[in-house]
Order: sequence, then C-alpha cells, then structure tokens
Amino acid sequence: MKILVCVKQVPDTTEVKIDKEKGTLIREGVPSILNPDDANALEEALKIKDKYKDVTVTVVSMGPPQADYMLRECLAMGADDAFLLSDRAFGGSDTWSTSNAIVAGINKIGQFDIIFAGRQAIDGDTAQVGPQIAEKLHMPQVTYVQNLEIKGNELEVQRQLEDGYEIIKVDMPVLLTAVKELNEPRYMSVDKIFDAYKKEIVVLGFNDIDIDTNHVGLKASPTKVFKSFTPQPKGKGVMLEGTSKKKVEQLVVALKQKHII
Ligand SMILES: Cc1cc2nc3c(=O)[nH]c(=O)nc-3n(C[C@H](O)[C@H](O)[C@H](O)COP(=O)(O)OP(=O)(O)OC[C@H]3O[C@@H](n4cnc5c(N)ncnc54)[C@H](O)[C@@H]3O)c2cc1C
Repeated sequence: MKILVCVKQVPDTTEVKIDKEKGTLIREGVPSILNPDDANALEEALKIKDKYKDVTVTVVSMGPPQADYMLRECLAMGADDAFLLSDRAFGGSDTWSTSNAIVAGINKIGQFDIIFAGRQAIDGDTAQVGPQIAEKLHMPQVTYVQNLEIKGNELEVQRQLEDGYEIIKVDMPVLLTAVKELNEPRYMSVDKIFDAYKKEIVVLGFNDIDIDTNHVGLKASPTKVFKSFTPQPKGKGVMLEGTSKKKVEQLVVALKQKHII
C-alpha cells in the first residue's frame, strides 16, 4: 500500500507576537513547526505502516527551501521519503493555486492508495487544500477523520461532527483529512534522526512538474489578500456588584442586550 501525507510548515502561532506600532505580526525569530493536524495525519500513516506489510509512507510539502527541516522531522518520525515543491513561481499562491501545485506534484511522484492531509493549517486556517486536492484528483474524500480501520480495500472511517460522529465506508484510493482526536503523534527516534539527515529530499520546481503559469502563484490565484490587520483587543471586563441575586439579574440583562440569550 502506498500512502502520501501532505505536510505544511507553519509558524508556531502560540508564540506569534504583534508589533504594537505597526499592528503587524512579528515573524522574525518565530519558530516554524510541522502543522499539528499534519502530525496526526502522518502518525496515522505510520500506524498503518507498523501494522501491515509493504506499506510506504511518502511526505510532500509545498513551501520555501527551509521546509526541508520539517520534512526531515517527518523522516525522523518514520516516513520513507520526502518531496518538496519549491519555486519562486509558486509564491503567493492561494488555496486554489496551492492545491494545483500539490496535485501536479502528486501526478509526478506516483499513485497512492491513501492521501492524508490535515484538517486545517494553523496559519492559513481555511481547511480547503485537502478537499481541493481530492476534487482535482477525482478521488473520494472523507474530512474530519477521528478514527480509521482498514478492512481489505475498504476503509471504515469515523467522521467527526459537532455533536457526534458518522461512520463512512469508503474504498481506496481516497483522501482523508485528519483531526487531532485521531491519535497522539509519536516523537522522532534517535536512530531515525541520523538516517533522516542521510536521505535526499527531492526538490521539484516549476519546470519539474506539469503545470502552467495560469495555475500557480500569485497572479494565477483567484483570491488576493487585500488587507491584513490585527484584531482590536477586547475591551475591559465589567465587574458586577451587589448580592448574588443582583449580580445574576444584571448578568441576564447584559446577556439579553447582547442577544446571547
Ligand atoms: C486569499 C489568499 C491569498 C493568499 N496569499 C498568499 C500569499 O500571497 N503568500 C503566501 O505565502 N500565502 C498566501 N496564502 C496562504 C496560502 O494560500 C495558504 O498557505 C495555502 O493555500 C494553504 O492554505 P491553508 O493554510 O489555509 O491550509 P489548509 O487548507 O487549512 O490546510 C489543510 C491541509 O492541507 C495541506 N496543505 C496545505 N498547504 C500545504 C502545503 N503548502 N504543502 C503541503 N500540504 C499543504 C496540509 O495537510 C494541511 O493540513 C493566501 C491564502 C489566501 C486564502
């Protein structure tokens, strides 16, 4: 079985600081990490590899050259090989262009029984890339996967809903997007860290994949970021005074005014 995991390098947003004067995000010195949902996607692929014979796990990312580090982390967790789609021509891609490039990359790399993606990247936060890849590869997809069982060529998948889950049976090849409830990602192992630095990460540029300039990059993107800004911080909280009864009355009035209740 051949499994592909789409992985994105993202800024560790728990550590992002805001420049108060310019109102912009301070990216300098902010560490980059493997997108958390993608770590769950990779873990699930590795669990399948642990359980069954003849499973290969490939990781692919589109990003700048420094994504090499994150891909080596994936190899050190247990992935077999890694591909990086990297070219200036890919810069400024929105989700449509990003998925076009990833699909062109996948077509170059090979065919897969399962393609995993994370549900969402913590920087772009759109949750669109996985489903777009499935559409463009004419593949069925199940998003928000919180549990997975393989039964022959069929997968039995639990798809997370707001108030429960649904069970979906789907044949391979299929694209699945992982949520954090799916598993607990493993740590890198020391011997695999050494191996990861010996392996080649195959870099594919614009001329290495079958794509034209109308399908990738800033100009080709149907959406453009017009403005970005830091949201205003919430105002100071209000302390309610008086007896418990009085406080509850004031609280109910305030919640009604805000149409919360
Ligand atoms: C209107 C718009 C304009 C943009 N303009 C720019 C820009 O000018 N410059 C810029 O750098 N970015 C830009 N972006 C961000 C860029 O589109 C996103 O980083 C990228 O498309 C992925 O979307 P996302 O982060 O929302 O991922 P999601 O859709 O939330 O990611 C879901 C999953 O898809 C997979 N995935 C997503 N991205 C990648 C990737 N690169 N490689 C491998 N797997 C991936 C991962 O498995 C991930 O968990 C723009 C986004 C939008 C919406």
